Amino acid sequence: MAVTTTRITVETETVTIVHQAKVTRGWCSGCQGDVDLVITDGTAGVHGASAEQIRHWISESRLHAWQTADSQFQFCVRSLLQCLSMGTNQ
Ligand SMILES: [Zn+2]
Repeated sequence: MAVTTTRITVETETVTIVHQAKVTRGWCSGCQGDVDLVITDGTAGVHGASAEQIRHWISESRLHAWQTADSQFQFCVRSLLQCLSMGTNQ
């Protein structure tokens, strides 16, 4: 009797909503490469993460974030997605 193997590939898509922010492309020293960067005046909220959680990620250098010369705040979308995929309870 022949054995048939069927492979099912499920593609998932992550949708991250960042309120009150712009997105640009730029260098992230954490990733050592060009990434999407979120630019905000500091009032942005990230859907799925509290402000306290975001501060925690930054303090552990898991979220690549820095302040620009014109007092805006930038963070790296790649590291944000990694933080969100690990869950907000860590
Ligand atoms: Zn980064």
